[in-house]
Amino acid sequence: MEKGFDWCIVGAGPAGSTLARLLKGRGRILLLDRRRLDRPRLPGAPGKCCGGLLAPDAQKALAVFGLALPENTLGGPQLFAVRALDLASGLERLYQRFYLNLDREVFDRWLAGLAMGEGVTARWGGEWLDFRDNVVTFRTDGGELHEVRCRFLIAADGAAGAVRCRIGRRPVWGRDAYLAIQEQYEMCGESHFFDAFFDPELTDFYGWSIPKREVLLLGAALRPGSDACGRFAAFRRRLEARGFRFGRLVRREGAVLRRPLRIGDFWLGEGKVFAVGEAAGWISPSSAEGFSFAFRSARALAEVLTAGGEPTVDAVRRRAFGLFLDWRAKMLKSPLLYSPSLRRAIMAGGVTAIR
Ligand SMILES: Cc1cc2nc3c(=O)[nH]c(=O)nc-3n(C[C@H](O)[C@H](O)[C@H](O)COP(=O)(O)OP(=O)(O)OC[C@H]3O[C@@H](n4cnc5c(N)ncnc54)[C@H](O)[C@@H]3O)c2cc1C
Repeated sequence: MEKGFDWCIVGAGPAGSTLARLLKGRGRILLLDRRRLDRPRLPGAPGKCCGGLLAPDAQKALAVFGLALPENTLGGPQLFAVRALDLASGLERLYQRFYLNLDREVFDRWLAGLAMGEGVTARWGGEWLDFRDNVVTFRTDGGELHEVRCRFLIAADGAAGAVRCRIGRRPVWGRDAYLAIQEQYEMCGESHFFDAFFDPELTDFYGWSIPKREVLLLGAALRPGSDACGRFAAFRRRLEARGFRFGRLVRREGAVLRRPLRIGDFWLGEGKVFAVGEAAGWISPSSAEGFSFAFRSARALAEVLTAGGEPTVDAVRRRAFGLFLDWRAKMLKSPLLYSPSLRRAIMAGGVTAIR
């Protein structure tokens, strides 16, 4: 048995890395991730399927932390507008937006690097397996099993996280789960917008295309089902029929994406286990923007864990009240985007569109 830790954080994505950085120097931290975030991603190594757009709310959260983005985290053309396309009606509008277009893998490695320091032990290539009687079990990429003592376990392992499933007894494919499919194509012509596609034949959420440095991402969040890949292929054909051009397919990825539409879709933890980021359900139900929620939920949990006394899930819930309000505001905004008649009325009227 290895020596003990105060906190074992499972997952070093934006939520887990941020939490580790905020707890650094306050106790002994074990940061586990099955990805190797201490070196550039190798071909075929696990990555994070993501659009990589840093929204103003996430930029604000980084500013509150006193952080500025290093130049190498940028991952392609910087875009000034989202082009909304309603495929059923053919309506198309441009809306000014202020995203930063990131290289997600570099961004994650930058955040993980910031978390390193006093009291932090990182186990890259380490996969969490179990937590009982204050003992964490994990496996390293060589297949070796390890057991360590730890006071609290933190689930920061994302939407399909094993901690939420096993300890929180939440199914991966629960009512809040979408299947995100994202393909990368060689650039074929130029693309100057973040495109958001609304297509009722595809999904009740949305699809997107985002130009990166050498590739064009085409993705969509779909209700899971055996016909999901077929729906995605038909979506691509509809875009081609509208004049979109895609080069050679370079990569196809998939991921679970949570869309919390009810308060019961959140799981903030139980007992000695706490959850942050998408493992807890924190993501915008209207846009799937997750970075700002990952940063802010990590900050709320860090404040509770370092407040003194025994931390409780109720205390986290209270600390995260502002985040719940923001989630509620996004819920109120959702019908404007996802009710076909409202969306079309707004797009036809050109409200807030760039003319
Ligand atoms: C297709 C897609 C596109 C998206 N686009 C955007 C976007 O453009 N902008 C935006 O703001 N948000 C976007 N999001 C949402 C955003 O990616 C998430 O909200 C954000 O990554 C959540 O951060 P997190 O740290 O909670 O989880 P994650 O980023 O998922 O990190 C979880 C980490 O846990 C690790 N892990 C998982 N299981 C284990 C285990 N058993 N043991 C050890 N480690 C484990 C993983 O390797 C990973 O590093 C998108 C999501 C999807 C699916």
